[in-house]
Amino acid sequence: MPDRPLLLWFRRDLRLDDHPMLTAAVATGRPLIPVFILDPETEALGAAPKWRLGRGLEVFAETLQGLGSRLIFRRGPALDSLRALIAEADAAGVVWSRAYDPASITRDKTVKAGLREGGLLADSHPGHLLHEPWTVETGQGGYYRVYTPFWKAVKDRPLPDAAPAPKALRSPDTWPASDALADWHLGAAMRRGADVVARYSIPGAAEAERRLADFLDGPVDGYGERRNLPAEAATSALSEFLSLGEIGPRRIWHAAFRRMQEGSPGAETFLKELVWREFAWHLLYHSPHIATANWREDWEAFPWRDDNPDAERWRQGMTGEPFVDAAMREMYVTGRMHNRARMIAGSYLTKHLLTHWRVGLRWFEDCLTDWDPASNAMGWQWVAGSGPDAAPYFRIFNPATQAEKFDPDAAYRHRHIAELTRHPGALALDYFRAVPKSWDLAPDRPYPEPLVDLAEGRARALAAYQRRDTAA
Ligand code: FAD
Repeated sequence: MPDRPLLLWFRRDLRLDDHPMLTAAVATGRPLIPVFILDPETEALGAAPKWRLGRGLEVFAETLQGLGSRLIFRRGPALDSLRALIAEADAAGVVWSRAYDPASITRDKTVKAGLREGGLLADSHPGHLLHEPWTVETGQGGYYRVYTPFWKAVKDRPLPDAAPAPKALRSPDTWPASDALADWHLGAAMRRGADVVARYSIPGAAEAERRLADFLDGPVDGYGERRNLPAEAATSALSEFLSLGEIGPRRIWHAAFRRMQEGSPGAETFLKELVWREFAWHLLYHSPHIATANWREDWEAFPWRDDNPDAERWRQGMTGEPFVDAAMREMYVTGRMHNRARMIAGSYLTKHLLTHWRVGLRWFEDCLTDWDPASNAMGWQWVAGSGPDAAPYFRIFNPATQAEKFDPDAAYRHRHIAELTRHPGALALDYFRAVPKSWDLAPDRPYPEPLVDLAEGRARALAAYQRRDTAA
């Protein structure tokens, strides 16, 4: 058996099953040293995703201990940290699961080239997506810019089975030194509301498994009809686990596919949503500017406002528009926001408040425990109208009529807005426990008047759109 150990560089793949890198590493028979590196790219995460990562790492380290292994924590630029560890452990090299955002791609190319130059093993593996983004091509050989043909291209593609978790990991004779995870203070920027959000966010692969099983056991059947109702627990709530790789997409795909074959009416719609995530990564990989600039260049001249006091009211859930405020408060308290609510809150910011989608994207990046660079970028450009396959700008969601349609008995709004009910529940009150003192908010004050009249806001947005259209 080869004796020089192999470093397993974990990033957003904090699980043991459905893990091609781990399966390949175990098959080498080498001693394995799992490592997580707090590199500059990880340091740059927003407050909630960074805090959630810390909690995910805590659970994953325990899981590895259960296999007789450990998770070694190191801090610094990835290549330097890996080289130091290789020298200390006399390791043969490093393996990892691929990431597809521009910053990670740049980092990983540097790491691969640097290690291979030194004659070391440096191999990357799939696992974060169903299909590698470069393997899905249009008939003309380019990438897909529209979802439906993308779905048609992937829906019947063969997909390997999700491999089971290894029973044990071979340990090295001596373990390299590790930082203490707690010393990294990954939750530092969450000092405002971490204790509150912790009530609504349970990290780890076991919780992901439980949610998948619960969802496929019942809610999936009604998913097609009920997934747009934010007051109901009608969706899987798997996004935060997918974001950190605490569950693999192939496992979800195969399990939901089986339910579809068994006749579950909502399972295909669910598979389609999973493929929206895939499409988002496909877009980010092939057109990385989607995360930072208007995907359609002709939107660069659009007169969006940069950050402004109205946007601050939006962030605070104090616009006076109940569906929007409920959405913003839901995110602040639970770390997640229902998809319909994301669309309404995003549309309101970019249209009624005529504020740049980047302002919203950044706030979501700071507050979402399920933050995902690809889905967040695609989602924002979709609501703003500047992205591929986006909703046309002139189709402006009216938050009041959307509320009547998707929250007919106001259960969602009342659940999250204390000022609207006589006896507010825990979620509504938790909002005031989570917000920073500097916001000076209290549940017993009157709910604010609307920031903008909906008809006026709509007219202003349409006028801006027409000016842009004439100028283009
Ligand atoms: P389910 O309905 O159970 O769907 C299953 C899975 O499919 C999800 O976990 C997710 O991985 C994927 N999925 C579902 N809907 C979408 C979608 N519209 N786009 C991409 N993937 C989807 N999702 C994130 O995971 N992270 C983000 O940072 C994020 N930001 C968004 C920002 C905006 C402005 C918008 C409009 C959407 C954003 N989404 C984001 C997509 C979507 O809102 C969430 O994936 C979904 O609400 C997660 O809930 P769920 O796990 O219960 O989803």
